[in-house]
Amino acid sequence: MKNSRKGGGARSRGGPANPTTEERPGRKKTKALPKFAVIGGSQAFRFLADGTRKQRLGERETPFGKSQPVYLFDSPVGSYLFMSRHGEKGYSVAAPFVNYRANIYALKDIGVRQIISWSGPGAISAHFKIGRLVIVDDLIDETRHRPSTFYEHGGLGFIRQNPVFCPHLRSLLKQALEALGMDFAAKGVYVCTEGPRLETPAEIRKFSLYGADLVGMTLVPEVFLARELEMCYAALCYVTNYAEGIRPAEFRPGVLFEGLATEEERQSVEATIQSFPQMMEAMTALTEAKPSECACEKLMQRYRDRGDVGNDWREWIKH
Ligand SMILES: [Zn+2]
Repeated sequence: MKNSRKGGGARSRGGPANPTTEERPGRKKTKALPKFAVIGGSQAFRFLADGTRKQRLGERETPFGKSQPVYLFDSPVGSYLFMSRHGEKGYSVAAPFVNYRANIYALKDIGVRQIISWSGPGAISAHFKIGRLVIVDDLIDETRHRPSTFYEHGGLGFIRQNPVFCPHLRSLLKQALEALGMDFAAKGVYVCTEGPRLETPAEIRKFSLYGADLVGMTLVPEVFLARELEMCYAALCYVTNYAEGIRPAEFRPGVLFEGLATEEERQSVEATIQSFPQMMEAMTALTEAKPSECACEKLMQRYRDRGDVGNDWREWIKH
């Protein structure tokens, strides 16, 4: 797309970022980009290499640095935006070092309103079998060192977190998965650890006592940042393995997770991953057809009403 540039064209520091196709007063917009985006996890880069029809729109400069590149995926039912959280060629950026602020800022900046996160955590609860999909409904934050807010300055960001994930998008995910006949759990509590190391058996026992079903490293601060910018965000997880200590698993050097998952389980995970494009197409159609019924776009309303912030979200972020 001609108005997308690979990291160029933008002011390098703190500027309100690149020209976009977003609507501007008094100016006819070019081709509008979709308002629905998917942020993919550690296997996501594979979809950038397959035959899916897509266009690389490129990285975007943001006040927080460069985002991961944005792609435009075409499908028979419509198009959606896609970003691979850990890099476009492989797992090149580990979870604690992902530039979550740049990624969320970049998506907001090009007009995205709804985000689905796609990731493969481990299961703490034995009820969640390997390869199963989970529409996460709550979260425990065990991260330690990540910049977790856009509002370091200015006294903003006192935002309620119930529901944490957009109920409208979660409902659409449920409809999409039901229509496709997928096996899924409609609820699950996700605990987000710092990483990049995996958890110890005692940590997993602790998280189990907390009520966590899944353990991963990526939803925090992503969901909280999306909420700060009043975007809808929901997480679709697929269970990749059982967390440490949930069942006996011999340490096997050199294989994925050193033996935490069996070959059969790996195949089950693979089958779920292969359904990703179908699921996201279904979501593309649903997000276009069903108007939003949620309060996500009003999360900063109190600040607006008080006159603390104006309508331009870029000005909410002080440096
Ligand atoms: Zn919402």
